[in-house]
Amino acid sequence: MINRTLKQIHEMVGGLNVIAEWESVQVAGVSIDSRKVEQNNLFVPLLGEQVDGHKYVEKAIQQGAAASLWQQNVPNPPKDIPLIIVKDTEVALQELARAYRGQLNVKVIGVTGSNGKTTTKDMTASLLATTYKVHKTSGNFNNHLGLPLTILSMPKDTEVAILEMGMSSRGEIEFLSKLARPDIAIITNIGESHLLDLGSREEIARAKLEIIEGLADGGTFIYYGDEPLLSEQIQNRDKDLHIQSFGRSRENDLYVTSIEQRNDSTAYMTAGVLVGSYEIPVLGNHNVMNALAAMLAAKELKVDPEKIQEGLASVRLTNMRMEMVEGAKGEKVINDAYNASPTSMKAAIELIEGLSGFERKILVLGDMLELGLQEQDFHLKIGQHISKDEIDEVFTYGPLAEHIARGARETFEENRVFSFQDKQQLIQELKRHTQANDLILVKASRGMRLEEVVQALQK
Ligand code: ATP
Ligand code: MG
Repeated sequence: MINRTLKQIHEMVGGLNVIAEWESVQVAGVSIDSRKVEQNNLFVPLLGEQVDGHKYVEKAIQQGAAASLWQQNVPNPPKDIPLIIVKDTEVALQELARAYRGQLNVKVIGVTGSNGKTTTKDMTASLLATTYKVHKTSGNFNNHLGLPLTILSMPKDTEVAILEMGMSSRGEIEFLSKLARPDIAIITNIGESHLLDLGSREEIARAKLEIIEGLADGGTFIYYGDEPLLSEQIQNRDKDLHIQSFGRSRENDLYVTSIEQRNDSTAYMTAGVLVGSYEIPVLGNHNVMNALAAMLAAKELKVDPEKIQEGLASVRLTNMRMEMVEGAKGEKVINDAYNASPTSMKAAIELIEGLSGFERKILVLGDMLELGLQEQDFHLKIGQHISKDEIDEVFTYGPLAEHIARGARETFEENRVFSFQDKQQLIQELKRHTQANDLILVKASRGMRLEEVVQALQK
């Protein structure tokens, strides 16, 4: 993590003032949360909508912080605490990360896309860790605060950093990419999330492509080539890039020729720039796509082909992404309650449809949020898409997911589709209903907190 004197920090953030006697104070690491401050941290008080971090500066110092930033327009800076006065603490945090990134000799990989960012980031880190000292975004720290904090927590001997970049509106990815200045940029796919803010899939693609703005000239751009919105727009770039695409189509630089879904892993074969057969210990065709992106990044950084195989075998995903857990009665529950969009919902349902060896296959689906004006239609289409020959029963939860039930009822018999508005009722009904040899997919947007259903089934 960053380790500098206040004099150095002052220069890096473009500070307005630091008292000479504090200049030699040494800070190690940065924190924006006084409850999580570690020894010798630099505390950065942010002015949020609800809370003003400046109220916690003294507490942060008591917790072990060595110094703090202070925003110029906030009155009464404490006299006895080592402070650097800055114009804006949030901007200063970002500037500090930008400067620190520039001082390190590290290859940076930036990952964006509608779905699969965290997964691809984790997979890429697994592959590169076979060969390099890597640092990656922890969890989902992918925004204008999470990204700088991730950079600032990077050890100085890091060789490769894999950074997730998230967004909800235009300009955000450009900002993050210019801050992190990736050598390799990845776009995992284009889906429908943030349709509400951006209006169309074209606009979503444009927003993701902003990642190129911060990519070094001659840098590598890796993208999902089966998405026409990306392949078309990438033709019109004005930068010299090394471009590598992945997908199912043979036109891609790296493509899959076959996928075999096993009960707790996925095996696949590839052709193009990497030819071989591989296995990942996670489920779902969409995860093969994420693995292809990670493989291209590893190849770009000259990881041995055997190491790529080894790295894929040791992939571990952050919780609640197609995570297989056991229910109290021995049911197999796939916990995908982390998030949902129409693309990922469809992918997950298709995955369950393709699995065999279970008594019954049950879907428990909740609302997909933030889809904009056509939200009901998106839900209806998911329902219509569910195969009544492959899926035994459909449970929905929430007012939007009600439309999934409506779509399913177009083909399913009434007594195989159940919709709920009350989570406790849903849980009671499921607990009564499920049996040892059932396979149950639980999926919804984060805000629906469907992991509570998974937890209840485990008790
Ligand atoms: P967030 O925007 O919340 O950070 P993310 O882009 O990091 O999401 P992940 O957390 O990796 O995405 O995956 C979220 C869900 O998206 C997964 O559980 C899975 O259902 C789905 N998903 C993952 N990868 C893909 C993909 N390549 N294509 C479609 N859906 C995917
Ligand atoms: Mg994520």
